[in-house]
Amino acid sequence: MIDAPIPTPRDAFEMLLAGNQRFVTGAPEHPNQDAARRTEVAPAQNPFAVLFGCSDSRLAAEIIFDRGLGDLFVVRTAGHVMGPEVLGSIEYGVSVLGAPLVVVLGHDACGAVAATRSAVQDGTTAGGYVRDVIERVTPSVLAARAAGRTEDHDFIAEHIRHTVDLLLDRSRVLAEAVEAGRAAVVGLSYRLADGTAQLVTARGL
Ligand SMILES: [Zn+2]
Repeated sequence: MIDAPIPTPRDAFEMLLAGNQRFVTGAPEHPNQDAARRTEVAPAQNPFAVLFGCSDSRLAAEIIFDRGLGDLFVVRTAGHVMGPEVLGSIEYGVSVLGAPLVVVLGHDACGAVAATRSAVQDGTTAGGYVRDVIERVTPSVLAARAAGRTEDHDFIAEHIRHTVDLLLDRSRVLAEAVEAGRAAVVGLSYRLADGTAQLVTARGL
């Protein structure tokens, strides 16, 4: 297998947006989803992006960005909250697999953000490990409230920005890749109704 050249962070971002555009306009090409691609990538993978998004069932990564096998290294948790396993998985995508782009993907009407807003407002707590998710979203909700925000999209954007900041703050590997120009980290906000992904924040692009 011949390794394709690694795209620049900017090129990778353009590829991702182009796929989203195809999905939004109802003209998906479903690239890299056939048997030939399956055979091609079986020996090795060179994904062009790490996608770290919310687990929401409506945010299916390869569908909304119109991509296929070997394209995206996907890590998803409820409310895109992160712990050591998530950080390790993202670092693996960038430092071992060489992905030039990390995308944090949040979305409107996010259940994790809504549950956290309720918990902060009413002082309620969730049971089991759902509490852990809510605790990890809480700093974003508190920051948005402190800034006087009341709209859902402002809370979502704050949580996406906070996640990008936290990622670069906690991962030395990622921060160094961005400083060296090997990778970019972008935060996108996805709209469930129309399928568009809007840029919220970008580092190293
Ligand atoms: Zn969500």
